[in-house]
Amino acid sequence: MTSPRKALAAWLRDAHAMEGQAETLLQNQINRLRNYPDALPRLKSHLEETKAQRHELERCLEALGENTSSLKDGTMKVTAHLQGLMTAMASDEVLKNALASAAFEQFEAASYRMLAQAAEFAGEPDIARTCETLMEQEVAMADWVWGELGPLTETYLQRELAGAEAKR
Ligand code: MG
Ligand code: FE
Repeated sequence: MTSPRKALAAWLRDAHAMEGQAETLLQNQINRLRNYPDALPRLKSHLEETKAQRHELERCLEALGENTSSLKDGTMKVTAHLQGLMTAMASDEVLKNALASAAFEQFEAASYRMLAQAAEFAGEPDIARTCETLMEQEVAMADWVWGELGPLTETYLQRELAGAEAKR
């Protein structure tokens, strides 16, 4: 039997690892992007948001009396690096990254929805509120990525047609 508090703590750790993956993915996209400068400000602001989210999650774990020195984010960061290497091999890298981001930001939003409910159930309303705030940030980013998919595809195809570098 797992207590709601234990489950909450475990999911907060998962979220922390997820944000480690998010940080690596975003940093990689920012580093790789060359011909789509309009996307950079939003990617950079979400990278800063992501770093702050990691701190917020550490604060939540500390509030539960959890040890934050043993957070194991390494595996997810390696996963993110491999993802970056995979998409870098695609001739339509920028679109493959956009697809990955569309899915990932939804995944993050869903994770915080679940966490907020778990925190409420465990009698931790402050943590629930924090998770709702983080969820709203992810929903906003997911909406932005969704909105970019159409225009980005068009710009990509226009550049291809003009013989300009479109890949990234
Ligand atoms: Mg995030
Ligand atoms: Fe995110």
